[in-house]
Amino acid sequence: MNAPAPKPWVMAIAPYVPGRATADDGRKLVKLSANENPLGTSPAARAALMAEGDSLDRYPDPGATILRDAVAAKYGLDPARVIYGTGSDDILHLAAGAFAGQGDEVIFVRYGFAVYEIAARRVGATPVIAPDRDYATDVDAVLACVTDRTRLVFIANPNNPTGTFAPRGEIARLHAALPPTVLLVLDQAYAEYLSAEEDDAGLALAMTAPNVLVTRTFSKIYGLAAERIGWGYASAAIVEALHRIRLPFNVTTAGQRAAVAALADTGFVDAARAHNAQWRTWLAGEVAAMGNQGLRAVPSHANFLLVLFEGAVSAEAAYLGLMARGYIVRWLPGQGLPHALRITIGTEAETRGLAAALRDIVGA
Ligand SMILES: *Cc1c(COP(=O)(O)O)cnc(C)c1O
Repeated sequence: MNAPAPKPWVMAIAPYVPGRATADDGRKLVKLSANENPLGTSPAARAALMAEGDSLDRYPDPGATILRDAVAAKYGLDPARVIYGTGSDDILHLAAGAFAGQGDEVIFVRYGFAVYEIAARRVGATPVIAPDRDYATDVDAVLACVTDRTRLVFIANPNNPTGTFAPRGEIARLHAALPPTVLLVLDQAYAEYLSAEEDDAGLALAMTAPNVLVTRTFSKIYGLAAERIGWGYASAAIVEALHRIRLPFNVTTAGQRAAVAALADTGFVDAARAHNAQWRTWLAGEVAAMGNQGLRAVPSHANFLLVLFEGAVSAEAAYLGLMARGYIVRWLPGQGLPHALRITIGTEAETRGLAAALRDIVGA
């Protein structure tokens, strides 16, 4: 054919399917499909962002200095080892781009975050999928996948779309058993939803281990998904490699300002965490009450619930029924979960409304 040929590994990528906001007919729905913050954004972060409206003609600071300094101060890190990205997705791609390529293997868990497979395939690497243990990360299964071609392991903790969490001991065990030549990427997009005691110690590991990269995002509890801001922490050598392939101005000026203000607004974050814990527990109770109809929620440590449909009403039917009633959630047949819906915890009214709609659909 006389046309440019995309690389075969690029054509092997199944395009990412984002969470929807509208029905097929364009109707706006209550959006519980993208794990966004139902409380919105910290007012301080919004004000900081708006204040940058007068400097749109200037490129952002390519070193994201204020962002690195604020992150480092908050977590006791070396600012020189903080990498930043256009969302943490950017950093996941940087990791694959710098440490994997053709002939290399990249491991992640079945029912893991969809971006890992795209990031691996994009650079021509081979995705290797480790079996789960009742939807959760199984460290032994991950380790069993390691070969001399393994370059990278992606672990989301808590995991999306399952909400499951691997405790500190499991992460330590995984790291200890991995060859030192394998980069362990700990994706902590939902870490701020954990209680302090639950910390998986990923950041502590990244401070000392030469093969650990932790990633964080401002898209979830900080309510800044629209701005696309993420950061990561790893050894100086790893961060130096990531910088070589990073786009030069990958976090906007307003985004940097907003992120710094969001980090400082601990009241907003604490409120979001408390709201999430309360309504996640409440919704899990509602789902448990629909157990006779075959519904079961996977225990979640994040801002969503994965609900399994093992009875007469299928997940697809529930998905369509919820949409007809004004709610959009995530149905994930493309990720091997045709029997499940991922439901973001919304406001109180949204969560109550969602549960009532679900009861109506399953006849509970
Ligand atoms: C939402 C999410 C991210 C963050 O994406 P951003 O690019 O930072 O918006 C990363 N990893 C997981 C597992 C997520 O669910």
